[in-house]
Order: sequence, then C-alpha cells, then structure tokens
Amino acid sequence: MTNNIKGKVVIITGASSGIGKATAKLLAAKGAQVVLGARRADKLDQIIAEITASGGKAAAQVMDVTSQADNEAIVKLALDTFGRLDAIFLNAGLMPNSPVSALKTYEWHKMVDVNITGVLNGVAAVLPTFTKQKSGHILATSSVAGLKAYPGGAVYGGTKWFVREFMEVLRMESAAEGTNIRTVTLYPAAINTELLDTITDEDAAEGMQSLYDQYGIAPERVADVVAYALGLPTDTTVSEFTIGPANQPW
Ligand code: NDP
Repeated sequence: MTNNIKGKVVIITGASSGIGKATAKLLAAKGAQVVLGARRADKLDQIIAEITASGGKAAAQVMDVTSQADNEAIVKLALDTFGRLDAIFLNAGLMPNSPVSALKTYEWHKMVDVNITGVLNGVAAVLPTFTKQKSGHILATSSVAGLKAYPGGAVYGGTKWFVREFMEVLRMESAAEGTNIRTVTLYPAAINTELLDTITDEDAAEGMQSLYDQYGIAPERVADVVAYALGLPTDTTVSEFTIGPANQPW
C-alpha cells in the first residue's frame, strides 16, 4: 500500500499514555505530523522529545477534552503549526467501572463528560475546517464495551455505545452531504494501558485486572489499525474495527 500517511496532520487526544501515545509514535514514524492533546504536560513533553529525536514532527497542547475552548485551541495549533489538518483521533477516555448500586455518581458524570462530551467537542472543533476543505478523517475510540454489555460497565459501556451511534450517523450524514468526511470507530478489547488505574471500586478493579492478565494486548496493536485506516486511499472508508487478542472468547 502506498504511504498515504506521510505529511498528514493528525490531532490525537488522550495522547499522553496508552493507545494515544502508541499511535502518536507510530504515525510520526510513518511521516505524519502529529498534534498531541492531554492534561499531563510532562508526559506530552517526553513524547514530543522522543518523536523529534527520531526525526519526526510533533506539537502538543495541554488540554481537557471536556472544554470546547481547549478543543478549538488544539485545532488552531495544528493549523498554525503545520498549515493544514487532515485527521483527528478522539481517543481520550476513562473507565472507572463499578456496580450501579455503588452509586459512584461523580464517576458516572466524569465518564459522560470525558467519553461523550469530549468526543462531541472534538467533532465540533474540526467540522468547520473539514466541511470547508471537503475532506477529513475522524477516528474515535469506542470499546468492545460499546458492543457488548457486562456487569460493572453500565455507564462506561453506555458512553461507548454513544460513540458508536454518533460516529455511524456522522458517517452517513457526511456521505449524504457530500463533505467527504470519513469516520473510523475502534472497538478495542483488553489493551494494556493505564486505563485500569481509573477504577476505584476494589472488586471491579480486581475482576478487570484478571481479565487483562489473561487477554491484554499491547496498545501498539491498536495503533497499527489506526495507521491502516488513515493510510487508505481517499475513495475508501473502513468505518469499524474490533481489535482484541486472538484468544478472546467473549
Ligand atoms: P490510558 O489511561 O492509558 O489513556 C487515557 C488517555 O486519556 C490519557 O492520555 C489521558 O491523559 C487522557 N485523558 C483522560 N481524561 C482526559 C481529559 N479530561 N482531557 C484530556 N485527556 C484526557 O488508557 P487507554 O489508552 O487505554 O485509553 C484510550 C481510549 O481507549 C479511552 O477512550 C478508552 O476508553 C479506550 N479503550 C481502552 C481499552 C483498554 O482496554 N485499555 C479498551 C477499549 C477502549 P491525561 O491524564 O494526561 O489527561
């Protein structure tokens, strides 16, 4: 396949660790110009240093995806720094699983804010640019939890079901409106990242840890899929990917 990634400008949210970090490094190695967003400045600085030391091009913006202004600022940074914008990977998220009966309402709302509102803010920030230029790639990380229900994941899964619905309608509407905006929704299974650190319920944390011990795969495997989707020719869209270990029976 020809390298359709070289030269593309790609914003990645949740880029300070896990899937976002692995994707930033892979895309930069393939010649993309990456613009990284997350809250932890020290982590972003370290990743930028690694990418530039290997000859890649990268910029970073400390941002909270729940802020519309922060999303607009990272789009402006991409356009000001690299002169164009080709794609955004809406990947920031958290998964503080717990049974509904535990009533961890602060965490419920936090998941809605980051996993849903964060995606909406990102789309709202890039859409004017993509509509005007009649091209753009919007990728988002849903989850296998957005396809299958499981105890402990009522709110997390709900936020990820939302991402599936929203991205699919966005794809259909963009096609109907002739804006040539392509969407990609990722449904990773168990990926070994910092995500489990967000769980405060002890039983939920223990259950998820043993699942990940058995089935966890590296975030680089998700990055491979992002690179594949981004590298497709502009007349082609592959809109949904599940990504998991070969031994996944669920
Ligand atoms: P990590 O915890 O390693 O990464 C989460 C990223 O999101 C971090 O970079 C974090 O950065 C960022 N983030 C969290 N809150 C905010 C916020 N308010 N504003 C900006 N950035 C934020 O986990 P993963 O890499 O696994 O998670 C990435 C995505 O993948 C998430 O959407 C997750 O739900 C999804 N996913 C993960 C799976 C897994 O098994 N790991 C499976 C399926 C889906 P910082 O703290 O610096 O802001």
